[in-house]
Amino acid sequence: MTTRRDFLSRSAMTAAGLGAAAMSQPSQAQLAESVKQMQPPKKPVIITRDTGDRTIDEAYKMLLDGADTLDACDHVCLAREDDPNDHSVGYGGLPNEDGVVELDACCMHGPTRMAGSVGALPNIRHACLVSRLVMERTGHIMLVGQGAERFAVMEGLKREDMLSDEARKMWLLWKEDRNSHNFWGPPLSSPQWKEPSPPPTLNHSAIPRHPGPEWAEVIRARSQQLMGMASDLGIPPHERAFAVEQVLWPTTGTIHISVLNTKGEMSGATTTSGQAWKIPGRLGDSPIIGAGCYTDQDVGSAGATGSGEENIKVAGAHTIVDCMRQGMTPKEAGLEALRRIVRNYNGDMNKVRYLDMIYYILRKDGAYAGVSLWSTTASGKPKVFCVHDGEKRVENCAWLLQGTTTN
Ligand code: ASP
Repeated sequence: MTTRRDFLSRSAMTAAGLGAAAMSQPSQAQLAESVKQMQPPKKPVIITRDTGDRTIDEAYKMLLDGADTLDACDHVCLAREDDPNDHSVGYGGLPNEDGVVELDACCMHGPTRMAGSVGALPNIRHACLVSRLVMERTGHIMLVGQGAERFAVMEGLKREDMLSDEARKMWLLWKEDRNSHNFWGPPLSSPQWKEPSPPPTLNHSAIPRHPGPEWAEVIRARSQQLMGMASDLGIPPHERAFAVEQVLWPTTGTIHISVLNTKGEMSGATTTSGQAWKIPGRLGDSPIIGAGCYTDQDVGSAGATGSGEENIKVAGAHTIVDCMRQGMTPKEAGLEALRRIVRNYNGDMNKVRYLDMIYYILRKDGAYAGVSLWSTTASGKPKVFCVHDGEKRVENCAWLLQGTTTN
């Protein structure tokens, strides 16, 4: 990973005619100029979520063979959209509160500076392809809902039910459980929002992800109740604990991928089924150009997974690319976007602890970073991202706040 020191010394070397004093403290203008002068890396670079997936190697090979950068992005996205075991993307994604899987995706193609997006898309498996078709085959940037579905069918994509049997049963469990979390009522950012307090009874909706000991009895009883319901619904024994977890603490996921080739061409794509149990018609950050994904091959590319509503409010991916344009390193730019999220809550940790965010960031010279709001996952493991620059590996994210999200 490029450090600030590397960056400053490279800036100093590339900004012609600097005096010794200026070299130790490059001005804003000099930093921005050094970004303009940056050259593409000798090897392609991919940055994405850690999926443990061989398609990342295949996408890398595609780049080595001269494939278009967005084709390489789509290769990874399509495979995740096909995977019924990934409950945050495509087929098998967890549905909205009506039991309908609504997909969001967007893409940006650096060489042509084109963009496309699709939101709340029902009954079509490959949201990433639909966003690309919107980009290539229409004069629009974004299509949503049934119009997007009709467009996809007219472009030759198959209409099919995106709700896998496993996801349908998890939805039924959530639906039948009267105490589960939903998205109605004043949001976290509202002065009327009320923090869940340890409940005196089982009738309580939001169990924190990291509950204190005062929650232990409630969680035990709720889990037992839900395990019984899962059995009644015919969820096989080996899937029950996972289904109960999805009801209490639904999966988040999403795929973002940014890629860069040795010609300096870049593309980015993001695809998701969004928040489980969302209100029908909800769009998250993933289809929003500038929030879930932003690519400008003069500078870099970035994308996000996590609390979509928060990311929209800081236009996260665009903020990051613009901060890099002004000379920040990928890590500094990501931390700046995260600081803006925290600032939106005036640093109130009683609220910030309910949020979660990872940014995947790639600069045009191949420098990269994965940056997360919190240092660890709910199970205490470091937050990670995947990079491929000739060798595929998983690296720990840089982080803004030590600890983990509550929700
Ligand atoms: N950002 C996505 C959304 O809000 C969810 C996620 O990344 O888990 O829809």
